[in-house]
Amino acid sequence: MAQMQINMQCRSCSKEYSVPFNGIINVGSDPELRARVASGEFFLHECPYCGAKNLIPAQNCLYHDALNKIMIVFSPLSLKMEDVPQDYTCRLVGSIGELIEKVKIFSASLDDVVIEMCKYVLRGELKKDVELKFVGISGADSEMTFTYPQNSRMEMIAVGFNVYEDCAGIVRRNPELHEAARGCVTVDKDWLKKFFA
Ligand SMILES: [Zn+2]
Repeated sequence: MAQMQINMQCRSCSKEYSVPFNGIINVGSDPELRARVASGEFFLHECPYCGAKNLIPAQNCLYHDALNKIMIVFSPLSLKMEDVPQDYTCRLVGSIGELIEKVKIFSASLDDVVIEMCKYVLRGELKKDVELKFVGISGADSEMTFTYPQNSRMEMIAVGFNVYEDCAGIVRRNPELHEAARGCVTVDKDWLKKFFA
């Protein structure tokens, strides 16, 4: 999973080239690296022929933040994660996009279980079973922004931080949620559905 060469094809000029990619991201003492992962910039590479920015089609990635005890694993292989320390928050994700979302959530010092609960509430308000993604938190009143695909474009929805606080309350009243989120688990829409059928 360490340094590797990834073959890719430019989405703009169609030329093929290969880029070095390090699938193990240790952000321990490097807040700049963490920011580049959270923005998605880390996974972009500029085409040497035309300058277009392409997403590196990485199939493996391990994100490790030793300072905040966070590990996020993207791998098609089922990894043995027994070596992850007990006090770590460890998440399994199914894509680079999901990994970026988790980094955004944890970088904002938010709880991803609560964020999934927020999405559950928002889906109810939208009356649509859409795939919501957390984008960020901003402003003095900590407004949260989410996106979801609709009619082949991305819609944005902004909600007040009171939604997060309300959802944090729901999670506190359902301690089995945090219990189930311990260890290396996938925390997403389907995971939450197991509790709120
Ligand atoms: Zn190109």
